[in-house]
Amino acid sequence: MKKTFILVLLSLVCAVCCAFGLAACGDKDNGGNSGSNQPTSDHVHDWSDWVITTPATCSAPGRATRTCKTNPNHKDYTDVAIEPEAHLWDDGEEITPATCMEKGKKKFVCLHNEEHTKTEDIPIDNNAHDWDSWKVTKESCTGKGEEMRVCKRDEKHTQTRETEPMGHYLASPTSTECGRCKTPLAQSFTITRIDETFQITKGTAPATRILIIPAYVKTGETMTPITQIADSAFMSDTFTEIQFSPTLSRIGASAFSGCNGIQSVNIPDNVHSIGSSAFENCVKLKTVTIGRGASEIGAKAFRGCTSLQAVTFTDTTGWKFKDVNLTTNEPQDITDPSANARELKEGDHTTWVMVKD
Ligand SMILES: [Zn+2]
Ligand SMILES: [Zn+2]
Ligand SMILES: [Zn+2]
Ligand SMILES: [Zn+2]
Repeated sequence: MKKTFILVLLSLVCAVCCAFGLAACGDKDNGGNSGSNQPTSDHVHDWSDWVITTPATCSAPGRATRTCKTNPNHKDYTDVAIEPEAHLWDDGEEITPATCMEKGKKKFVCLHNEEHTKTEDIPIDNNAHDWDSWKVTKESCTGKGEEMRVCKRDEKHTQTRETEPMGHYLASPTSTECGRCKTPLAQSFTITRIDETFQITKGTAPATRILIIPAYVKTGETMTPITQIADSAFMSDTFTEIQFSPTLSRIGASAFSGCNGIQSVNIPDNVHSIGSSAFENCVKLKTVTIGRGASEIGAKAFRGCTSLQAVTFTDTTGWKFKDVNLTTNEPQDITDPSANARELKEGDHTTWVMVKD
């Protein structure tokens, strides 16, 4: 009885094992994908050619695969030998930059193995000069000048560019004509130092009646800019025209007041301050242009200029009227030149200045 029971149990265990074993083989036969030794009895693989599915690199073998034409689930794999030249180079690092005369060098490192490196030439760079400083080659008081620089590596490499007009200069503080072009600038000037620059404190126009403001005074070997026209410098003079200089930054109070020969004034971009009463009672003055750099126009600067028709601001943004204590302000629209002219010659500006933020 006991023997029979053990036998039955054994055969049950066997049956279960067999069932599982068969199921496992079947699975493998239908879906196996890890080798050619499929446990099937009557299937002979019909392999395709080898196809490289993972290329070999300089550091790792690749893999080739072939597929059974009868059942594409049957696949076979094999290694592809390391390819010593199959590096994967990085973007490279410049070790020596190229110049206008010599090639540079660039070093590359293999991303598979950092011990694999190579260097390559960087071609000559025709723009990579080593410039010396600019030197003036053509001077001009009122027209465009020219300056040039030379490459320190090869003097045949040069570059030129235009320069802005330099303005006239006085050969000494007592000169009255330009040291370069000999144009008479004034009948007399009084030039005095102010900080690091010079100012014109007094003067009378030359016989031409055209007053030309010099840009520099030469003292020894140094050209020092004249940046200011002092208060009352040309008051009530009789010239008909003023030519300002590119170095001027301030026109003093009453500098040109009562100059009743001038008809137009063109204030250059470097001038930031026009003093109070600077052009007051210039009764023939018709047109004024205020340069880009202006930021302050003093009280009564154009008061009593009864002929004034147009005052044009090169930069019309940000202007305000302020009282002389600078405590209140009103934004001002100054885009209309004729309205500006009316306001500046007739408006109550005895205690108001115009400023730009
Ligand atoms: Zn097959
Ligand atoms: Zn490599
Ligand atoms: Zn060069
Ligand atoms: Zn000159």
